[in-house]
Amino acid sequence: RSFGDLNLSRPLVKACTALGYAQPTPIQAACIPLALNGRDICGSAVTGSGKTAAFALPFLERLLFRSRRLAATYVLVLTPTRELAVQVHSMTQKLAQFTDIRVALAVGGLSLNVQASTLRTNPEVVVATPGRIIDHLRNTQSFGLEELQMLVLDEADRLLEMGFAEEIKEIVRMAPRKRQTMLFSATLNDEVRKLIAVSLNKPVRLAA
Ligand code: AMP
Repeated sequence: RSFGDLNLSRPLVKACTALGYAQPTPIQAACIPLALNGRDICGSAVTGSGKTAAFALPFLERLLFRSRRLAATYVLVLTPTRELAVQVHSMTQKLAQFTDIRVALAVGGLSLNVQASTLRTNPEVVVATPGRIIDHLRNTQSFGLEELQMLVLDEADRLLEMGFAEEIKEIVRMAPRKRQTMLFSATLNDEVRKLIAVSLNKPVRLAA
């Protein structure tokens, strides 16, 4: 099986080739078709499994074919740490390199005002840590979730360990109900199960 067999558009297949990806990893082969069909996904996947492309390729594909082209953020990816957000942002930008989709980063440690002006340009994809994005939602008002179509909770177990449960619940409450949600976690403890119950709709469970 190749990336070309996964119903991905040429600019995305081209990016995979440019990155040296010969074939999809197991989590990518399982996740991409289901996500393209609009299903919510609950994936047990660790770093190194290729999970970033497993969630990014489907949302990039959906953005390429979105019918309404409002100036708005359509995809929010939440990660537990700044370092992971930087990695996910960089990988997503590489996967989007042959498209016009803009991917922004919103994490602590960078100027809130500089980030706010980037967010005001309505990048289609925002990769963020929960604390910083809540700060923007409440204080800079540079960012809204009204048009959000896809929410990704990356490393959900670590998001909860870092104490972000309330922030995530607040974001889930603000996001439209009609959206797609993908959650990835290395472990599925009770806290993660609770988060799955409040944030996912009839998820498909995948293990890598
Ligand atoms: P991740 O699990 O998303 O952090 O990815 C781990 C590493 O695997 C990253 O360096 C990716 O660039 C790489 N990678 C992701 N998908 C593939 C693939 N299909 N073939 C080869 N390498 C990949």
